[in-house]
Amino acid sequence: MIDRLTACLCLAVAASMFAACGAESSTARAVAPAASSATAPGWTYEVRATPDASELEIAATFSTTATSELSVDPRAESHVHDVEVLAGAEWSAVSPREGSWLIDDCSGGAGCRVRYRFELGSLAAERRSADWAVRIHRTIVTSPSSWLLRPLGIEPGVPYRFRVSGEPEFVSGVGLGRAAGQFETDSSLVSMSPYSAFGEFRRFRIAADGGVVDVAIAAGELPLADRKIVEWLDRSARGLSAYLGRFPVKRVLALVVPSRRGKIHGKQKGGGGSTILMTIGPSAAQADLDNDWRGPHEMVHLAVPSMPYRYRWITEGLATYVEPMARTSRQLRAGGSMEGARGDVAERSAPGRGPGARPNRDLGPHLLGRCVVLARRRRGDP
Ligand SMILES: [Zn+2]
Repeated sequence: MIDRLTACLCLAVAASMFAACGAESSTARAVAPAASSATAPGWTYEVRATPDASELEIAATFSTTATSELSVDPRAESHVHDVEVLAGAEWSAVSPREGSWLIDDCSGGAGCRVRYRFELGSLAAERRSADWAVRIHRTIVTSPSSWLLRPLGIEPGVPYRFRVSGEPEFVSGVGLGRAAGQFETDSSLVSMSPYSAFGEFRRFRIAADGGVVDVAIAAGELPLADRKIVEWLDRSARGLSAYLGRFPVKRVLALVVPSRRGKIHGKQKGGGGSTILMTIGPSAAQADLDNDWRGPHEMVHLAVPSMPYRYRWITEGLATYVEPMARTSRQLRAGGSMEGARGDVAERSAPGRGPGARPNRDLGPHLLGRCVVLARRRRGDP
């Protein structure tokens, strides 16, 4: 049956992907160099944030790199400052060159140690997007790839680890490392690093079937009690686990952030870990949680690898198709019948009516969902 085949395919691919898943003065920095030596395998970062997370001081150690060219995500380069490399016993300044920093020592056999400052607050003010950074009340939601200076080019098999210290708490969907507070995954996945956040959080852990959902609710006014939000995420996880046979990833961060307007919105990002980012506005009510499809929809995305934009139709189509089926499988949808689920899929498949849909732009993703439904009907599948 198409749905089970799809689920198995997604699960297999997801398993392979996920389980594998300051101060201005360069002489008065508080950040200590990374603890590991330059010959330790992989890339290691020690990150210290200022109390409002507007600035990060970062010390990095690279054991070996294939290239001497280092940078951060495009459009975040101008927020990197005071890059220095340890040359012998002295720190030596490195000037940027068209958005990159060329450090020959890094591509040598012994590796290199680098330190720099990153202005996260100014990036958030400029980009206003979680794909780089955005400040929402007292929280900065960000993608670590924005501020982790790294050798350009894919280096599969090389681990990277980072640890964040300082006054604001830090949460991340990047895979948990062996040491407390450390996050770790493969360096080839840095550019897809899951959403993370600096701020104050109330934390909960939901045991899903085969995985966990780490819930971090950011400080700020919410119209719903924490318990109701956790129950909603728990329902979403159980519905998906029941449909797929297990939860699709070992761990996901469910980052819940109060927003200034609207009800419930969500997005997801995963590479070497995963995060679903849910924003809840002041007009959200219990009925919105009871009837919500956005939380389950974002969780379905965890079972499907991230795809380049041109192939987004398959990830959105599958999520649009599976989500109501998964909710129905646990009788979680109001009046949950399979026929009703089909109706939901058809509704979401309509151009411009799906999650985050805009007319024309989202035509492809939702047409696929519709095609899957029609294929099922022709086969007579339930
Ligand atoms: Zn989606």
